[in-house]
Amino acid sequence: MKKIIALTLAAIIAVSMVALFAGCGTKGETEKETLVMATNAAFPPYEYKDGDSFAGIDVEIAEKIAEKLGMELKIEDVEFGSIIGGVQTGKFDMGMAGMTVTEERKQSVNFSKTYQKAKQVVIVKEGSAIKSLDDLKDDGTMKYGVQQDTTGDIYASDTPEKGGYGEANVIRYKVGADAVQALVAGKVNAVIIDNEPAKSFVNSNKGLTILDGAWVEEEYAIAVSKENNELLEKINKALDELEKDGTIKSIVDKYIKA
Ligand code: GLN
Repeated sequence: MKKIIALTLAAIIAVSMVALFAGCGTKGETEKETLVMATNAAFPPYEYKDGDSFAGIDVEIAEKIAEKLGMELKIEDVEFGSIIGGVQTGKFDMGMAGMTVTEERKQSVNFSKTYQKAKQVVIVKEGSAIKSLDDLKDDGTMKYGVQQDTTGDIYASDTPEKGGYGEANVIRYKVGADAVQALVAGKVNAVIIDNEPAKSFVNSNKGLTILDGAWVEEEYAIAVSKENNELLEKINKALDELEKDGTIKSIVDKYIKA
């Protein structure tokens, strides 16, 4: 009798092991749901192309979020200005692109909790007559280069009464690097852009410098469709955990040296 019980037990164990492994096989990598992230991979150190793949702070945080959600991350590299619309219509699950939370954008999408503090800064040529933020003028004598549709563009293009320099004095470029090239070529007097990309562009181009101080203080978050609160909650939970266990800090520290 004992023998029979032992054999039956062994058989049950064997069958469940097979079932377990079979389960693993069928629920493999290929069957995971995809989490589509829209970004603009021209924004180092947050997102950029590294050969054929994507790298950067947002890319690594997104990978960790996808992992926690049991999903497979898929990155779509699009123009910055088409991220919000694509998230709104459900073409992309989330927009993560060093994206600043603004009241205007909140009309179109929901934002996750913020995961990074940031600021807009001003790049000028070394030796420029513009020595400080106070030297920036709205009288038509200066041209400002910005990346189109970013907060740098939105705020600089605003009227002088609202703290901008007027649309006529702003030249928009598709990506930040193009605005920086225009500065090098003398087509604009200053470039307004996020601090970390600014540092990266100044490091890779000779003769440029960042003015002291913040032009505007900002915070980055992930954009999610207003129709998809379930995903928003999951992302917020993942961000909370990644913040608490130090993952976000270690990713940031890897890309931004103090
Ligand atoms: N933080 C800026 C914005 O949200 C720029 C982002 C970007 O160029 N990727 O508008």
